[in-house]
Amino acid sequence: MRVVLAQPRGFCAGVERAIEIVERAIEKFGPPVYVRHEIVHNRHVVESLRAKGAIFVEELDEIPEGKIAIFSAHGVSKAVEGAARERGLMVVDATCPLVSKVHTEGRRYASQGREVILIGHAGHPEVIGTMGQLPTGAVLLVEDVAQVERLQVGDPSNLAYATQTTLSVDDTTGIVAALRHRFPAIQGPKMEDICYATTNRQAAVKAIAGRCDALVVIGAPNSSNSMRLVEVAANYGCTRSRLVQRAADMDWQWLGDARRLGITAGASAPELLVDELIAACRERYDVTVEEVRTTDENVVFKLPRQLVA
Ligand code: SF4
Repeated sequence: MRVVLAQPRGFCAGVERAIEIVERAIEKFGPPVYVRHEIVHNRHVVESLRAKGAIFVEELDEIPEGKIAIFSAHGVSKAVEGAARERGLMVVDATCPLVSKVHTEGRRYASQGREVILIGHAGHPEVIGTMGQLPTGAVLLVEDVAQVERLQVGDPSNLAYATQTTLSVDDTTGIVAALRHRFPAIQGPKMEDICYATTNRQAAVKAIAGRCDALVVIGAPNSSNSMRLVEVAANYGCTRSRLVQRAADMDWQWLGDARRLGITAGASAPELLVDELIAACRERYDVTVEEVRTTDENVVFKLPRQLVA
């Protein structure tokens, strides 16, 4: 079997920062520290931080007053920020700086009196946090081109759009084009909101998909960027593509007679899960590994001041 590894894959700078924030908070303040929502969408990461002293909760009222509360990489709404202040929690914010940038953008558009349209997936924590940066009803969500056609806006000449950071680059291009076609005066960000890591991981999958008989994305079903990688693989010539959380979940029957297996990992999946899958392949096949690198990444984000002082 020939394993074709997409590079870049796996952890992005926002995920590395979020994990380091939890580890450093435990070191500095002592366990337990409370984390609102899964810090990143990966069971393995969550379990290993839990073992070190993190307690994961869904809502702030599960955190005792005065304790440390860490916001996940996906970001939170203004209401959650306010509730944390009211409860006297000491907040350490692990929101990815590229998500915070979208929050700032949305608030800036709204302060210019524009109605804001967010392109994203309903119910995803990042979308809930971004929409919650503005008062309820101030942000309209669109998920696809069909919804753009049905959109009811107040003033078509006074609109702006922003996007979730982990969308499909191709789908989003289509949705933005539909928005611009229907509302020619709409304003948008100068630089894409889809983050560098999402863009690069999709480009790497596009580069290998046509050469693979099957492609596995290591990631979690609630990880938006991982799910998009499965779709990208299918759209670029590898219809036998699927998400697998880790080697133990691999359905070897599904692989069938595939002898060129593409492997990548979503931005919240650690490299050891890739190693584990390759090792599992080696137990079954005579394996050669080839890595296809489409770009180098050197993005590093600073930690919050509370943790470096
Ligand atoms: S996927 Fe992008 S936006 Fe999300 S944490 Fe990583 S760098 Fe930040």
